[in-house]
Amino acid sequence: MRSSKMRALLDIFRVETSDAELNRAQFRSFSRQMPLLYAILVCNALAITFTSFDPAQAIKTFVTPATMCALAISRAFWWWRQTDPDRLSDAQIVDYLKRTCTLAVLMTMSFEIWCIWVYQSADYYARSSLTFFLGLTEVSTVFCLMALRAAAMRVAVVSTFSFAFYFSWADGGRLLPQTLVLCCVCAGMMVVTQSYNRSFSALILSQRNLRMRQHETEKLSEENRRIAFSDPLSGLPNRRELLTRLDRLETRCDLPPDSLAVIFIDLDGFKAVNDEHGHHAGDALIRSVCLRLSQHCPSSATLARVGGDEFAVVLEAPDAQATALKLARAMLEEISLPVLVDRHVLQVGGSIGIAANVDAQGRPRELLRRADTAMYHVKTRGKGQVAIYDPGFDEGRLRRLEIESQIGSGLNHDEFDVFYQPIVDARSGAIVSAEALLRWPRRPQGPLQPDEFIDIAEATGQIHPLGLYVLERACREIGPLGNLKLSVNVSPAQFRDPAFERQVCHVLEQTRFPPERLQFEITEGYLLANPERVVSAVEAFKALGMSVALDDFGTGFTSIHYLRSYGFSHIKIDKSLLAGLAPGAKATMLVTGAITLACGLDMAVIAEGVETEAQADILRAAGCHELQGYLFGRPMPLAEFIKACEQSGRPIAEQRRLRAAG
Ligand code: C2E
Ligand code: CA
Ligand code: CA
Repeated sequence: MRSSKMRALLDIFRVETSDAELNRAQFRSFSRQMPLLYAILVCNALAITFTSFDPAQAIKTFVTPATMCALAISRAFWWWRQTDPDRLSDAQIVDYLKRTCTLAVLMTMSFEIWCIWVYQSADYYARSSLTFFLGLTEVSTVFCLMALRAAAMRVAVVSTFSFAFYFSWADGGRLLPQTLVLCCVCAGMMVVTQSYNRSFSALILSQRNLRMRQHETEKLSEENRRIAFSDPLSGLPNRRELLTRLDRLETRCDLPPDSLAVIFIDLDGFKAVNDEHGHHAGDALIRSVCLRLSQHCPSSATLARVGGDEFAVVLEAPDAQATALKLARAMLEEISLPVLVDRHVLQVGGSIGIAANVDAQGRPRELLRRADTAMYHVKTRGKGQVAIYDPGFDEGRLRRLEIESQIGSGLNHDEFDVFYQPIVDARSGAIVSAEALLRWPRRPQGPLQPDEFIDIAEATGQIHPLGLYVLERACREIGPLGNLKLSVNVSPAQFRDPAFERQVCHVLEQTRFPPERLQFEITEGYLLANPERVVSAVEAFKALGMSVALDDFGTGFTSIHYLRSYGFSHIKIDKSLLAGLAPGAKATMLVTGAITLACGLDMAVIAEGVETEAQADILRAAGCHELQGYLFGRPMPLAEFIKACEQSGRPIAEQRRLRAAG
């Protein structure tokens, strides 16, 4: 306990070297006062010389103080030049502090010894002024050194002790009161120095804390900026950053025509990847697409991820539109390459829109909107293409937005109907099945064909309630019609939806419709993008007793053999293939071959779009099982369809005669 107090006491005379920043601050603070200290010393030495000058003792009263003054002036000058401690290393600073402590004591001692030396031969008045100046020098030295505690303390103790040691007995002890006062002043100064030093250290510490906190705040705000303006998944600039850059371009009035283009990219089939392989796979795919797209981007272009599966490129080039078109085509090719993620080969496509500042209204932000509109146009025209913005696209987009907003209210206000188109047995001509087709006859703005709204409903997700509406209504209406089968179109979005199977079971239960009489039709396009999901969904519906047909066969590239592996029980030959059917024609050979192959694989073939007896004859001869088309009946309301069913049992020759007459 005692030794620790002793150590603490001794510590106040030591230079604390553990805190380099504190040392530097001490150095900075007292180095500014050092010239002042030396100036005081010189003034006091001059004052003493002035009062006690004796030409007979020139060495003592002139040469010595002159030498001391010269030394002090040179030191003052040296300190005056030390304006920037930041140029010194930590070790150099500690070295200077230690040297200052030693030098301060040496200087004080020399001054004091000189004073005592002069005192001995001085007269009464010189003596009294000498003690005054000596005391003053001591006090001012300690004050000037206050920032360097060790030096101030050492000077205070050494000078007071030597003063007291000499002046308490000099002149027969007549200076004892002054000595005592000086001792008290010295003790007071030591206390003040100590407390000043504590506050000084605390100030430096709090400054350091403040700086650290400021640094952290700056780092945090930099990080926030980075997060706010970049996409965390890909590291690419995000929409906000892209808009900022476009706004910066907006302020430039020196943009020549056709010097700036925006490319807007939207992935096709990305949602399916996410739904079927999970978000992890979706993220990996996005990262891969980003990486490959940025490799195609010239360094002068900005590639940004502006949405989940949307990207935009801002390109500055002399021939911007043509350059953008070339770049977009290369990007489209790149996007379509298959990627291996978690042992799955994933493949998506892209729809791309381009807009360049070819007219005066083509300001940078407007270009982004136009490129987006052009992309949207591609989306609605079968995807997988690049389109350059045309003002006509805006109209189409507006109409789509209008329809999109009307579908929901249409469902709520009973504006939709389901029509039925007969599917007949190729041999007997009897209606064996009905295809349910959606109609929107009571739309306040005028009726719309499914071609005009189905893909909008698919894009917006409204196909889910619409599809269920058709299924439910058709099951309810066709259910009572003997053992007639029912075909319902299912859109890819529904097929992808994991809840769909449960919803189908629920409808079958509610309407008591036997699953064996229900068939789903799904299009070939979806099949190519999502083979695994198709297999499992087809399996699930087959397990319920239903059958699944491949719709629009012939519009894609799938081989019949490949289709068999999906478990389809029927294929529907697309009406576009029937257009060229004539004896001996190439189209006839193609369709006949497809039918033969499908039959060989135990799949039933339905031909849709049959409009003429000639087509029906060729299809029948080729072995087609069922026929559908205007020849046998257009899509019609339920009441008409029931009537058609009642007449369909007639012999084939009579039916033919009736059709020819009708
Ligand atoms: P799809 O599934 O290929 O349906 C057959 C389309 O061909 C129907 O057009 C039908 O009216 C038409 N069609 C039938 N026979 C002939 C013919 O002999 N000649 C010609 N030129 N056309 C014929 P619709 O009713 O306009 O439907 C168009 C498409 O809309 C459908 O094509 C289907 O993809 C979709 N769709 C219709 N209703 C629904 C539905 O409830 N759900 C879903 N997801 N899609 C539906
Ligand atoms: Ca169909
Ligand atoms: Ca079709």
